[in-house]
Amino acid sequence: VASSENLDRPKILLMGLRRGGKSSICNVVFHNMQPLDTVFLESTSRPTSELIRSLVDFTVSEMPGQINVLDDNYDKARLFENVGSLVYVVDSQDEYLYTLSNLVDIIEAVYPEYPSINFEILIHKVDGLSDDFKGDTARDIRQRVTDDLLDLGLDGVKSFFHLTSIFNHSIFDAFSLIIQKLIPEVPTLRNMLDILCEHTGLEQAYLFDINSKLFVASDNTSSSGVGGASMEHFADFIDISVDLDNLYFESSSTSVTSSSETNADQNNNNTLLNGNKAAGPSALTTQSNSTSKKGLSPSHPRPLKCVSKLANGTTLYLYQMIRGLAIVALTRKEGPHRMALVDYNLEKFRLGLERVWPVA
Ligand code: GDP
Repeated sequence: VASSENLDRPKILLMGLRRGGKSSICNVVFHNMQPLDTVFLESTSRPTSELIRSLVDFTVSEMPGQINVLDDNYDKARLFENVGSLVYVVDSQDEYLYTLSNLVDIIEAVYPEYPSINFEILIHKVDGLSDDFKGDTARDIRQRVTDDLLDLGLDGVKSFFHLTSIFNHSIFDAFSLIIQKLIPEVPTLRNMLDILCEHTGLEQAYLFDINSKLFVASDNTSSSGVGGASMEHFADFIDISVDLDNLYFESSSTSVTSSSETNADQNNNNTLLNGNKAAGPSALTTQSNSTSKKGLSPSHPRPLKCVSKLANGTTLYLYQMIRGLAIVALTRKEGPHRMALVDYNLEKFRLGLERVWPVA
């Protein structure tokens, strides 16, 4: 149960029947557990709560399915206070009619008192369904819940449906969208990413949480394509960069890596350079200059940086920002000054973030 220290943070509350997949989701998304290892997870019988530090700190609480929170004796105020999102997990591979009635009962009990809560309904374990059946099941679940809520006169409920599985990237896409709704500054971040893309010649730019691989914001053009294959590739790129960084941690911590330092670090004004006016050091092809270990200690001396130039002319950038976040960006534009420009502008972006959020 949440400790007094984190009671005032936004809370994501996971609910749903036993064996629906709640613990698996928490472990895969927030603890890098391999999906197959979740089969060995023991069923949780007590409510759990943990603090997740990201751009904003929030708590993720899990309520075991066997506890009836609608019981009159249950302290509902304590449970639902500060809940920003109630994530309800529906096992789509199981008979779900009873699950849906439990979900609607919960919404009916909670919504009148806490109307601002987002009800995020995960139509989960869809990996086991054929494409046709997946679509039919999702439509059926959505229809039943919406109809039941309408019958109860609850048409103002903020309910959202996501098709998810821990065996592909869909659970990360869903949680990214869930968390973004709890960060009031997301529209500002989107605009900042737009300006960054425009001035730097980037096609896409995302602000990722390095450890969980959830993204907290994307530029406005890319946000329309959320959930595409690129998100998974970007997450893989983060993993590879962190792994490479760890691999060379020993050597880089004993030797000087000044070759990958750029003029960006020496610029003090906070204005983005424009692609046409760029001037700076000659292009660097590959850099990975952090001395951090996986887990990215906030005290490590330099930000994690990785640039990967692919044979098809695409270049991927990863540049660590603040609070364990990194920008992952893609461009197809080339030119001698491109990398220096990206380097410079990303550093300005980081300084901009620091102004809004004090470095943790
Ligand atoms: P909880 O009781 O709601 O916390 O459920 P668990 O996390 O213990 O999961 C119950 C079972 O569902 C475990 O065997 C998991 O491996 C399995 N599971 C969880 N998520 C998925 C998924 O996305 N797809 C499939 N096929 N199985 C899953």
